[in-house]
Amino acid sequence: MAATSGSIFGAMLQEFDGAARILNLEPGIWKILTHPKRQIIVSCPVQMDNGEIEVFCGFRVQYNITLGPAKGGIRYHPGVSLHEVTALAAWMTWKCAVAHIPFGGGKGGVICDPTRMSRRELEALTRRYIAEIIDAIGPEKDVPAPDVNTNEQIMAWVMDTYSMHVGHTTTSVVTGKPLEMGGSLGRHEATGRGVTIVARESAKHVGFSIAGATVAIQGFGNVGSVSATLLARAGAKVVAITDWKGGVHNGKGLDVEKLLDYVRQHKTVDGFAGGEPITNDRLFRLDVDVLIPAALENQITMENAPEVRAKVVVEGANGPTTPDAHQHLHQRGIFVVPDILANSSGVTASYFEWVQDRYGYFWTEKEVNERLEAKMCEAFNAVLQTSLKYKVDMRTAAYIVAIGRVATVTRLRGMYA
Ligand code: NAD
Repeated sequence: MAATSGSIFGAMLQEFDGAARILNLEPGIWKILTHPKRQIIVSCPVQMDNGEIEVFCGFRVQYNITLGPAKGGIRYHPGVSLHEVTALAAWMTWKCAVAHIPFGGGKGGVICDPTRMSRRELEALTRRYIAEIIDAIGPEKDVPAPDVNTNEQIMAWVMDTYSMHVGHTTTSVVTGKPLEMGGSLGRHEATGRGVTIVARESAKHVGFSIAGATVAIQGFGNVGSVSATLLARAGAKVVAITDWKGGVHNGKGLDVEKLLDYVRQHKTVDGFAGGEPITNDRLFRLDVDVLIPAALENQITMENAPEVRAKVVVEGANGPTTPDAHQHLHQRGIFVVPDILANSSGVTASYFEWVQDRYGYFWTEKEVNERLEAKMCEAFNAVLQTSLKYKVDMRTAAYIVAIGRVATVTRLRGMYA
């Protein structure tokens, strides 16, 4: 795949190349790991509510399936492209490998605007898209999940469509399903829980305790709100939170439970009486121990990086730090936990859902959480040890771990020809 400079696939390659050079990766494996295994483009005709037929363009990319079935979400968005889906599928490959779960990387998407579609139209689109890629997916081939603008209900339609085609109920074809039909306990909280675990482990490594540490979080959605809740429970002082509308700051620590109640009613943290208003701009410059960007990409840039004062940055969101800002933070001795490690607990929980579906035997929430704790600590330690061994930042170390694992199995499997 040709990578244009400044492109999202180009950004993935930049991260790949840095780690691959340190690993001394042989040119053949290098070539294999920088090409997508399979890219599927489908046209999905759908009869809309007004009787007219629309044709939607859908993609599914299996970037690398050396370690196991492809794993990755399906996004519905007007801006979806094959290029973007391919880069996201590549990132899933490295994320699954760093999480040490037996999955390759995949991603899917359909060019559509779900905010302008009825429930019936969305169901029809989902079923047709899945029917079009049906030969490529399956519990041992490719296991989709929710992503931007797709949810549990859409995953339920994915599972039903696949099951109707093969003639029997197959829950393990997709993850992120409702609990009643093969979903896993603990999945909703998994990403925030993982962020909390790596924040605690990072604090230990850097030399402070998470109990009593001050934390600022951008974003109060799934990842941000669970991280805030669990960090507060662990004794941390969550002093600032921002969201799409505004932010709130309290140097003595916010009452996170009360803030959750407030957000349930008002859909934003803006106006919460338990603190003073704060902007994103100020949040990133706060003198805190831990900073967690958990909202959008490209939030820590060269504009604000020189003024970041946190000791630890945990990337709850995907791609929240630009490469130059990351370099700057690292040079200033700030410990940055990269997204492919920090939020990998989401895909680890998906792996747990797939395992439970295949067993037909479901774990308690306590069991899910205990296993998640073990997997996250294992992943964190593997990356930390690699970073110490090669004297590199945690992001490069995470890529070294991930690429090393996929490369080893590629070599062991040998060349099929
Ligand atoms: P979400 O939609 O539940 O929450 C996003 C939050 O960001 C909301 O609180 C929203 O108000 C806030 N936000 C939006 N614009 C903002 C702005 N300009 N300034 C400050 N806050 C703003 O999303 P999520 O599931 O919590 O995901 C957040 C990030 O984490 C994304 O990058 C996502 O890709 C990544 N991620 C999520 C998961 C998961 O399991 N949910 C897993 C891996 C990675």
